[in-house]
Amino acid sequence: MPAFSKKSEALLLTCHPDIVAVCRELIKQMDVSVLCGRRTRAEQDAAYKAGSSRARYPQSAHNRVPSHAVDLAPYPIDWSNQERFKEMWLRFDAIARVLKTRGEIVSEFIWGGDFKTLKDCPHIEIKEK
Ligand SMILES: [Zn+2]
Repeated sequence: MPAFSKKSEALLLTCHPDIVAVCRELIKQMDVSVLCGRRTRAEQDAAYKAGSSRARYPQSAHNRVPSHAVDLAPYPIDWSNQERFKEMWLRFDAIARVLKTRGEIVSEFIWGGDFKTLKDCPHIEIKEK
């Protein structure tokens, strides 16, 4: 069974407990790496400068404490294979719906692959009400 690397685990623990709960189930089905959890101001500024985020600090869901967003990638990472990112999201979403039905989490999620302006396939964030 796949397990998170130490680096992934440390990043995951900067995230909201609902994200952690879904990821703990997801890793049983599919090997994934956590690329990003919470981003500090310096990290958000760097991401904005690099063009990998459109948000200025503290507007990104990654800037919340704990983070309301996580960036995940199927392992081993193949950026050209968007189908695997889509599969990862569909599994994540299916798990989240089950956990929500059971009352184990309260959140719903949105996927960056569905963003119109800056498609962001690793990005999953809590849907704010
Ligand atoms: Zn992200």
